[in-house]
Order: sequence, then C-alpha cells, then structure tokens
Amino acid sequence: MIKMRSSIYFLLFASIFSSLLFIGCKESSYDIEMLAHDPETDSIVYKVNTVETLTDLHRLEGRATTVLGGLSIELDYQLQEVRWNEVGSSVAFNALKAGDVYYPEDYSSLAMISVYYGIERAMLFFESVGMEKNRLENLETYYFAEVISIDELGQIEDEAAANNAFYMPIDENDRGFYILPFTIDVGVPLSMNPGVLTHEYTHAVFQELILDNLTNGLAAGQVNDNYLYGLNEGLADVFAVALTGDPDYIRPSISDIQVTRNAAEIIEYKAVYDMDAESLGPLQFNPYVIGAFVSATLYEMERRFQGLPSNSTGIPGLAMRQEVATAAFSSMKALGDYGAEYFVLTDFFNQLLSQFSAARQPVACQVLAERYAIHYSELEVCH
Ligand SMILES: [Zn+2]
Repeated sequence: MIKMRSSIYFLLFASIFSSLLFIGCKESSYDIEMLAHDPETDSIVYKVNTVETLTDLHRLEGRATTVLGGLSIELDYQLQEVRWNEVGSSVAFNALKAGDVYYPEDYSSLAMISVYYGIERAMLFFESVGMEKNRLENLETYYFAEVISIDELGQIEDEAAANNAFYMPIDENDRGFYILPFTIDVGVPLSMNPGVLTHEYTHAVFQELILDNLTNGLAAGQVNDNYLYGLNEGLADVFAVALTGDPDYIRPSISDIQVTRNAAEIIEYKAVYDMDAESLGPLQFNPYVIGAFVSATLYEMERRFQGLPSNSTGIPGLAMRQEVATAAFSSMKALGDYGAEYFVLTDFFNQLLSQFSAARQPVACQVLAERYAIHYSELEVCH
C-alpha cells in the first residue's frame, strides 16, 4: 500500500499465469469468528462476522475475491518487468463448526478469512454507492505473497517485503491484491484493517473506471498523470474513511507515517502541489500529498453537510458518508467516460460538484473556497 505505487507504471509483460475461472456457484452466508480491530480499546479482538459472498468456503473463493497462497514474484524496477517464481494456488480454510458459527482452526485460516471479509465489505460498500454487481469480477488475493522488490539500481529493497498490502494490475484479466507476510505484534496488521483493504479495493475500481479508459496510456509515465495518481490515492482514502467512519483509519496499523493521512486535518492546497505534479517524474512525485488534500476536503464536506461545526471533531454518519461516496463514485465514472487526454485535479472537483444536489453545492463550494483557493475561480458550479 505504501511503497508499491510505481509498480503500476510497469510495462507489464511476461504474464504467465492463467486466471482461475470464476465459477458462478451459489453464494452462501457464513457466521465466522475472526480478528477485528476494536476502536474502543484500540486492540485486536475476536468477533463473529457474517461473510455473505463465498461460493466455496473451504477454498475461500467467492464474488469478492479468490484467496490464493504460495505466490512468489519479483518486481524489477530496473528491468521494468514482473517475474513469477511461483504462481500461487488454492488455499485451505480450516474451521470447526459449533452451533452456527465457524471457528478457524489455525492462524492462517483466521488471517485469511479476515482478509476475505475485508475485501467483501469494500465490494459491498461500492455496490451500495452505485457500482454494478460483478463489475469487478475475479479479483485475486495473494495471501502471504513473497514479493521481492528490486529498485532502479538493481538493489533488493527490504522494507516492502513485510506487513504491507497493495493492489497491482497485471493486465485486464489479472488484477490482484497482494498481502505480504505479517505478524500481529505491530498493531493491527494492514491486511486485517478494513480501511486498508477498502483503500486497495478502490485502486481496483479506479483502474476499472478511469485508468483503463484513458487514451494517452499511463505506461508512458507522463507528468500530468501525477494528478491522477494523487486523485487515485485520495479517493482510496475517501472510501476507506467512508466505510470505517475513522478519518485516521491507518493509524492502528502504522504509527510513523510520513505524510498525514488523517482526513480530519485541515489541509489547504498549495501552489507547490501543482509545481510538483507538473514537473516531477513518476518515481519522484509523492501522490499522497494531493491524496491527503482530496481525502480531507471530501471529509469536511461530509461533516458540513451533516451540520457539524466547521473544521472540528465529530464524525459524519454512515448515510452522509455514503452520499458523498456516491457522488465520488459517479464522478469517477464520468471522468472515465470522458477519457481525458490531459487531466488536472480541478476536473475532478468540477465533476464532483455537479453530482451534488443544488442544496449541497453552496456548502461544498464554501469548503473549496477555504481549502482550494488557488483554483477556486475554475470551479464552474461555484460561480
Ligand atoms: Zn494506495
């Protein structure tokens, strides 16, 4: 989730794997005990959740994703290629059933089911804000993937190898989530954090709705793509915050994050963001800076629509978070249909504003007047 962004630039070839065919089996609901973050005690607790979309409980296959184990890949940034050492295979979820509840029998089963559940929740949230059922089919989740990352100088990077999660598209048929090995002694593992899984899921949606429709092709790494990368990271946080109701959803998993990702912070857009987006190469540009601005701005819109005092604490309710998420989702769709040759961040806000009702627009414009002042004159709805 943190270091792997540039993998999206790969000129991806040598895809040697055949995707598992999604079999249209019947979905069933299962009550399963899993590990979850308890916000009140900020610790990991056992909790029984209902998993709704599994078609094969034992193999953890379902509409949300198919969990696969044993993958080993090398991401080579120097040669710009991905190499597979092991392609991954079906997993075995082992659980005892007592009454109507399944209790995982081993640690892997416990961890894998919480990953499936997190991705399922993300998918169902997107469906609740307008995504067609089965729009994102056959996504794979590589559990405990061995990922060896080789930098532009040919050196192996150690830091990306554990407690990390990311989304990576290989081609249109092969899009997956990569869950790296983790232990639970460092807080809530990223892969058991529903906000993190929603963040990654949003990247898959962004790809489907926007990136795959662009005419200029992202592999070229053109500088104006930096705005799209910033927006991609920003929306990933918008949906994560909307689903969890936690503006700082990453904090239980990572305490020393470089760029703030807390949507409750007051972030004003600065001229240097444009300078960076328009001048830096894809590996130098940090998309989380614009991303944090987008996330905090949409969160403040939700708060003000809810009638909460400006720039203060107080979490908007789920219905309000879904309303703004619906507008953001519709904006993504519209931007994809438009297939921009050249994209700037204001294109997104113009689209977003047009998705809000007439009653919401002045409130959203007020937030943008405060936080997006240097581009405010370009916001069509606000004038
Ligand atoms: Zn991301």
